[in-house]
Amino acid sequence: AKKLGKGQFQFYTETLNVEARERLALDSALRRAIEEEALSVVYQPKVNARGRACGFEALVRWESAEFGSVSPVRFIPLAEENGLIGQLTWFVLRQACHQAAAWRAAGHPDLRIAVNISPSLFREKDLAALVGAVLEEAGLPAANLELEITEGMLMGDVQRSLAVLGELKAMGVDIAVDDFGTGYSSLAYLKRFPIDILKVDRSFVLECDSGNGGLAITRAIVSLAHSLNLRVVAEGVEQQTQLAVLNALGCEEFQGYYFARPMPAGQVAAYLAGR
Ligand code: C2E
Ligand code: CA
Ligand code: CA
Ligand code: CA
Repeated sequence: AKKLGKGQFQFYTETLNVEARERLALDSALRRAIEEEALSVVYQPKVNARGRACGFEALVRWESAEFGSVSPVRFIPLAEENGLIGQLTWFVLRQACHQAAAWRAAGHPDLRIAVNISPSLFREKDLAALVGAVLEEAGLPAANLELEITEGMLMGDVQRSLAVLGELKAMGVDIAVDDFGTGYSSLAYLKRFPIDILKVDRSFVLECDSGNGGLAITRAIVSLAHSLNLRVVAEGVEQQTQLAVLNALGCEEFQGYYFARPMPAGQVAAYLAGR
């Protein structure tokens, strides 16, 4: 490798320092935002094959005075590292369950709410009990709740994961595997774990209507899921041509900008009325 000059070395050190300082600032701003419940939750519809909204995914948003609007892609990993993910998740889960209970009361008893659960949380031994407590507080039946987990979560401690999933299932909460096809896990766990739903990752949906093998992969995922009796949700649907392909393949639900962007809770009633 090329030896770095002294000046260059200093430059890198300074860059690191700037990054470290910014991280620290972001970290404490996030801590404050969570404590002050300054985060918000937006809702993106999931639509069935008949074009009707059947549920929503809750997605967290952070509008920081200091940093502007920060993407969850940036602050979720930070929250995972600094131990804030638990508080953040309970905030989102509580908001989402209260919203879903309100939709039920307003004449939409079957609308489902999906909440993202980070891998680190999944290893907490009382996850199921905590979820149960939130459902009870919100007055939401477990059947209206879906938890979206990523493949990685099923890897680590298999016994632990099986136990937690089993408890959630027994309560009646559905489990969806998010971003399916992007992880490192083997397909074997799909049979082993009590999963209900598979979400085809946006990267495959993006290519399902073009030549590049996207269709073959999407078709394989859908048929694998169906042969295991899983429902299939296609995420990131942006084009009518993608929807047509996914519909023909037999996907049960669709989510993406083609239907609607994530929206604040206040816009959901109008959205539902318009469909
Ligand atoms: P995800 O769970 O895969 O969520 C879907 C992401 O794709 C969302 O981005 C959504 O706004 C975006 N999206 C939906 N439809 C389309 C589309 O048609 N085209 C494109 N290009 N994008 C679309 P968002 O809200 O920025 O969230 C990014 C990721 O951050 C999520 O990916 C999820 O992994 C994580 N995340 C968001 N909210 C939470 C949360 O409350 N808890 C946890 N643990 N993670 C969250
Ligand atoms: Ca998700
Ligand atoms: Ca996803
Ligand atoms: Ca994704």
